[in-house]
Amino acid sequence: MLTTPEITPATPTIAPALSEQETITHVLKELEDLKNIVLIENNTGDWSITHPMLFGFILTTVAKLSVPLACRMPDHFFIDFKGIQSEQASAHIMTNGTTQLHVGSELIRKSLTEEDNLSLRSLQWTLAHELSHLCDPKFKLSAKLYLVRDFLNKFGLYFATFSLAQMVFQNTGHQAFFAACGFIILNKIFTIALHRNYEYTADKLSLQAMPDITLSEIENTLTSMQQAVKPLCLTEPTNAINMLIGGCFPSLKSKKLYKKIVLLSFFSLHPSISKRLEYLKKLNG
Ligand SMILES: [Zn+2]
Repeated sequence: MLTTPEITPATPTIAPALSEQETITHVLKELEDLKNIVLIENNTGDWSITHPMLFGFILTTVAKLSVPLACRMPDHFFIDFKGIQSEQASAHIMTNGTTQLHVGSELIRKSLTEEDNLSLRSLQWTLAHELSHLCDPKFKLSAKLYLVRDFLNKFGLYFATFSLAQMVFQNTGHQAFFAACGFIILNKIFTIALHRNYEYTADKLSLQAMPDITLSEIENTLTSMQQAVKPLCLTEPTNAINMLIGGCFPSLKSKKLYKKIVLLSFFSLHPSISKRLEYLKKLNG
């Protein structure tokens, strides 16, 4: 049996602190490694242990932002490697009350390599915005009411389907069908208004976390993220309409398609970048 002799060094050895550039290099290396593991090997281990530099970097960045926001740290951190989610960040409150912060791998990589007009401050602001969602009492209440919202959505659809069937097969239920359609439309409008309100609130709170951020930095960040999502609009249309900051569609050349798509962008849960900037401008006086 091998035993390790106890050693008491005369001078304790302290690991030299890494410079910011060295830390970024390590973080990028671990991010690439984790990407290969997730996408190629399909291994789902605990990345906070297997990739400590990357985890430590996200954790300390969020911890610094949580202080001025007086916001509790998220319970779980995720790195997203696929599709639209890899280009953005998002915050979630689960039905059991736990909170999740998701950060896109491409958003991290581009921010640390200063690609596509992004920078470390872009990443910090994006995380501040997402963390702000988790601190927003209205967002928390909405998460608590998830089952009610889900019931209302399903109720509208069942009501409409049932009354449509009555209308087609028994020639009755016309009024019920129109009532159901009205209910679905009102429910949708209310949901959109509520979500857009969350965005304005999170933008406002993000200024509390980063008071020195400029409007042009925010514009650059949002525009760059929107540009990155554009090519994914056709492959992930539902996510794109819901997640997209404003609308990726106006870049399409076809005028007919463009008109349809502009109509769809009214259903986006996020306000347009110009509206968000206008709101922040007003806040700044
Ligand atoms: Zn948001």
